[in-house]
Amino acid sequence: MPDFLDNPIEGFLGIITIATYVLAVSVISFLLLYLFSLNKYIAAIFVPLYYMFGAAVSYYRVKFRVTITPLILDCVVNTNIEEVAGVVTFPFILWILLNIGIGMCLVLWRWKIESLQRVWLHVFCVVILFVGYYYSNNRLRQSINQRYPMHVVESISQYIWLRNQRNNPHILPEYEVNEFVDSLDIIVVIGESVRADHLSINGYNRPTTPLLEQRSNVVSFPYVYTEQTHTLASVPVLLTRADTLHPQHQYSETSFAAILQNEDFYTAWISNQDLGNTFAAFPSECDTMIWVNAGKSVFVFSGWYDEELLSDMDEQLSIGYPKNLLILHTIGSHWYYNNHVPETQHYFSPITTNRVVTNNSIEQIVNSYDNTVRYTDFVLDSMIQRLENRRAVMIYISDHGESLGEHGNWLHATGATETKNPACVVWYSNSFAERYPDKVYCLKLNSKQRYRTDFLFHSVLSLAGLSTVGEDQIVIDVFR
Ligand SMILES: [Zn+2]
Repeated sequence: MPDFLDNPIEGFLGIITIATYVLAVSVISFLLLYLFSLNKYIAAIFVPLYYMFGAAVSYYRVKFRVTITPLILDCVVNTNIEEVAGVVTFPFILWILLNIGIGMCLVLWRWKIESLQRVWLHVFCVVILFVGYYYSNNRLRQSINQRYPMHVVESISQYIWLRNQRNNPHILPEYEVNEFVDSLDIIVVIGESVRADHLSINGYNRPTTPLLEQRSNVVSFPYVYTEQTHTLASVPVLLTRADTLHPQHQYSETSFAAILQNEDFYTAWISNQDLGNTFAAFPSECDTMIWVNAGKSVFVFSGWYDEELLSDMDEQLSIGYPKNLLILHTIGSHWYYNNHVPETQHYFSPITTNRVVTNNSIEQIVNSYDNTVRYTDFVLDSMIQRLENRRAVMIYISDHGESLGEHGNWLHATGATETKNPACVVWYSNSFAERYPDKVYCLKLNSKQRYRTDFLFHSVLSLAGLSTVGEDQIVIDVFR
């Protein structure tokens, strides 16, 4: 039940939908308990254990609004025992003991049954139920896999996969140093599902970027094109030398983070997102990795906000290195939109009330979506505030766009036109403009050009005074 705690429910249909999911998840729980109880000795060990783990997971779900994810497992593996012990409180222990007690009652009940008649019939029932789960509706199975107990199994297998990807060797592309850079902060903000035509700074007719519009030194690139229309496909291409003609570089080469780190930049990856297996290797190239909301998943329908990146950004910048590269991976405009905007910042209304996209009106969806864009404007402005008095450049680029009902399309990953034009905004400080007037001049001159997202890799390198070498180069640099 706690796994469904924050699900938005609207009307009778909403209640029926949630009830169906709760029932489906309960069937899996029942299946496991049924399986354990086929033998009374196995039941005596595994039933209390099952209740104990369930109690721990539900406690964290209710108390901290988090769930089991591969990133949570990563944090647990890399956290020392003292930190883990710090969260073990009296109510937590009481809740665990209570649940073990319930498990023990079931065990006692099972032990009263001397021996099972017709065991084959019971095994047959288990197999039928399991086959039913395996072949159930894709969306239903995905939902079951994100809830106790299946999310434990799912997260462990994904975590093992991520670790393997992380350890996959990537080679540093050959590069040369063109100019000496003594002090500079390069901030790359990877956005999520933000389409360029919903930014008022690009002419959209609703005030979605009022703060960026008020600022000087902001240059928007409204004509960026990406072929990759979902996060897993897009992020590796953004970070590496991979381009349309050389997609293979994303599998074999390091990101720009490893190159800059090699040139004495302090590098940090601060993420408010899931870690996809396609880009799992790149954060580990940085000196520091921070997972701001490791326990959040898109199945936890509670607040998951990008402003939580800010304090870690402050901390990283205050370490005091002269050259810094921070990569901030945001949750931005990911569905369910309302969960990624604090309630006080819901500007447009009415907003969506149903987690199934098509059960909302287009007006509600666009309002909720525009609220996320307006909130991103607030987050970017807050980041700029932290950089104003430094020599700094911030490049914000969304991983792809989003469909909002055009031709019956919703969300992304469909390859629809509106998912291929991500928002991109660059800001630079006065100190940067004084030191690099030519780069600022070119940046402004280039802003109305059409670019593929391939420009990011070469432009970041160019800021650091570097460029890759090789005959198969298509160097696109917005600062040149
Ligand atoms: Zn994405």
